[in-house]
Amino acid sequence: MNERLKDDIRRSLAVADAVQYKETCWINPKKESITQGASSVKLIADKEIEEAKKRLKRFAGYLMEVFPETTASNGIIESELRAISHMAQCLKEQTAAEIPGKLYLKMDSHLLVAGSIKARGGIHEVLKHAEELALAAGMVKEGDDYRVFASEPFRQFFSQYKMQAGSTGNLGLSIGIMSAKLGFQTIIHMSADARQWKKELLRSKGVTVMEYEEDYCAAVAAGRKASQEDPKSYFVDDENSRDLFTGYAVAGARLKKQLEDAQIAIDERHPLFVYLPCGIGGAPGGVAYGLRQVFADAVHCFFAEPTHACCMLLGMATNEHDKVSVYDFGLDGKTAADGLAVGRPSAFVGKVMEPHLSGIVTVSDEKLELLKEELLESEGIYIEPSACASFGLLLQPEQLHSYIKMNRLEDVMDNITHIAWATGGSLVPESLR
Ligand SMILES: *Cc1c(COP(=O)(O)O)cnc(C)c1O
Repeated sequence: MNERLKDDIRRSLAVADAVQYKETCWINPKKESITQGASSVKLIADKEIEEAKKRLKRFAGYLMEVFPETTASNGIIESELRAISHMAQCLKEQTAAEIPGKLYLKMDSHLLVAGSIKARGGIHEVLKHAEELALAAGMVKEGDDYRVFASEPFRQFFSQYKMQAGSTGNLGLSIGIMSAKLGFQTIIHMSADARQWKKELLRSKGVTVMEYEEDYCAAVAAGRKASQEDPKSYFVDDENSRDLFTGYAVAGARLKKQLEDAQIAIDERHPLFVYLPCGIGGAPGGVAYGLRQVFADAVHCFFAEPTHACCMLLGMATNEHDKVSVYDFGLDGKTAADGLAVGRPSAFVGKVMEPHLSGIVTVSDEKLELLKEELLESEGIYIEPSACASFGLLLQPEQLHSYIKMNRLEDVMDNITHIAWATGGSLVPESLR
């Protein structure tokens, strides 16, 4: 390990814990207040998120046509917010500490079509590319009814093109299912962590699955290279994609509406704490960014990572972002949380999140497994181990309380709405649960 990394370890308690696989919580010293006018430049424009929202609306009719299960929600793919008081009780008993406020589960684990949070960003980026191709070819124009995308001439048209992505599994499912439905030739490059059933499910939809013995970054690199060599191929680049990010960010305004409908107040005296499992950072970053856009300083967003693959913590705490990997710090990157098995963070998410993120918590694989069982027993809800990272900070009550204190929220802490963002699980076959 070079001297600079050793310095990083000496400077930060959280980094020192992380490199020993110890569960920890890093608090972001660069977070800024939005209401007091965050000084930072906006790296993602509000307009881009607004456009993503409108695009998903334009395609709602098409989605109902090809995925009839989305008819009940008018072609908008959104998830339930459910109170989970039995699980809250379970967590309290485990830590022998109070969790001030009320606990909810945001069930992206059950998002239609893709069964994970990737239904937000992945489907958005595929639809955006399809729309751009169709507009450029004069097959649609602004204001048209997009149900034509389901017609044979469109499928024929898209079949000349390729869509590719690298994935640990869930991104591949969302990109693969959507782009194969549109008619694209679809190739998903899967890392060693990807589960067999995910590969089989994709193949059953006509998707070509390439398998790699290496980690996620290697699968992405191989996919990117294959795509660059083919002018008719488009690569969904999880390490750099703004279109994934804005698709995820649409969740902010949607959650606001959901909370209003449930008459749950969110403001400075009724804070919202949101816990998001983090792999490369795109999904949790996009959602958190969208939440800060609508709730400003009333929302406190935390990422959660496995102790063996805490790439975002290492990247943000050292300010090295994608210049460092977990391997550089001697970690092995191996985790049963396959959705989070990422050794190097996104090239831009850490920087975008600098003024917005409250902190990053890490969770051991053993705890993830235990949390999965507890949620199933207490609430009858199955989510995959990766998604259980969202309970991480609630198992570290001292860290949670110290954050509450630091932010002078003690007076209002009983008003906190906690949301554990469940990121995947509903497509996991019964036999593997
Ligand atoms: C992809 C994924 C995440 C994290 O998303 P990133 O964009 O990789 O950070 C979390 N949980 C599950 C289940 C996922 O599939």
